[in-house]
Amino acid sequence: MTVCNSCRYCEGLCAVFPAMEMRRAFSDGDLNYLANLCHACGACYADCQFSPPHEFNVNVPRTLAIARNNSWRAYAWPQAFAGLFARNGVAISIIAALSVAIFIFGFAALTDHEVLVGVHTGPGAFYALMPHNAMAALFGAAFLYAILACVMGMRAFWRDIGAPAGMTTDTASLWQAAKDACTLRYLDGGGVGCFNEDDQPTDRRRIDHHFTFYGFLLCFAATSVATLYHYLLAREAPYPWWDLPVVLGTLGGIALVIGPIGLLLAKSQRDPVLVDQTRKGMDVAFIVMLFLTSLTGLALLLLRDTAVMGPLLALHLGVVFALFITLPYGKFVHGLYRFVALVRYALERRAMAPGAATE
Ligand code: SF4
Ligand code: SF4
Repeated sequence: MTVCNSCRYCEGLCAVFPAMEMRRAFSDGDLNYLANLCHACGACYADCQFSPPHEFNVNVPRTLAIARNNSWRAYAWPQAFAGLFARNGVAISIIAALSVAIFIFGFAALTDHEVLVGVHTGPGAFYALMPHNAMAALFGAAFLYAILACVMGMRAFWRDIGAPAGMTTDTASLWQAAKDACTLRYLDGGGVGCFNEDDQPTDRRRIDHHFTFYGFLLCFAATSVATLYHYLLAREAPYPWWDLPVVLGTLGGIALVIGPIGLLLAKSQRDPVLVDQTRKGMDVAFIVMLFLTSLTGLALLLLRDTAVMGPLLALHLGVVFALFITLPYGKFVHGLYRFVALVRYALERRAMAPGAATE
């Protein structure tokens, strides 16, 4: 950063360089802020005249990737689970496998064999295998835990980067950060696209990120609408294919198959010089979990009127449960910390604007 701050050649590429130029020295919190502001587009490595084999050995994307990964460990809540970031690939697999096994054997133990492999159709069919209240309690608890752990991590990050005490109420900065996050503004390599396997930038990674992000949101919206149906309208799942939760879930599920496949492909082709090789397992594990969630969900939709509905529901719930409880300790958090960094950046920009009142 000190070399970059003298050079400033890359200042038009993304938010990291203008944020860096607002500082003369860099505390750990500053570096974590810049690291999470970086979208890993690779453009500053491709453009850098001081990258290897130059003796300065400047490699901003990889340096910030390492700092970013270390920062997620430092902010993890509770700290006892911080080590999961390093072992995430393995941990996710084990947790997912155990969850699925517990669900399947739990079903078999709680219900008779005929219920597990029988054909169930119409409203309430899913609950022949597992009562709705048990399902809601289990998944509600896992989801609330994930939210709590993520919020605690974001809070620690917000404090460490020297942001104003408490959460900001500056709506203009929040709106700017939301726009930048939802459009992935800084994943465009300064306008040319993202560098991945060679020196030919493309928008592929950005598009695959969009499929994944909006697919995830659509699936979340489907679950939320289904919950409202259940409690407000007393309408029980499964719903017909044309009903809102199914339409949202189908569109989200398809997007959440396309996006993760594209991201996995891009990851397998990515130039190793750009990435923190030690955390590749964590990245891959999260994408695989998203892919399995949507795949098992779509399979359940297609086969819900057949005898495989029971085992498929068990499998889908197991994968979703594992996804929920590992969310705070894997790649998922990059979106949260990046949003917090974008809010901080928007606040700084507004404070620097001529005539702006400082916070
Ligand atoms: S990455 Fe290289 S070219 Fe870009 S600002 Fe830093 S030193 Fe300069
Ligand atoms: S990799 Fe891309 S987003 Fe990250 S600092 Fe370089 S230009 Fe900015």
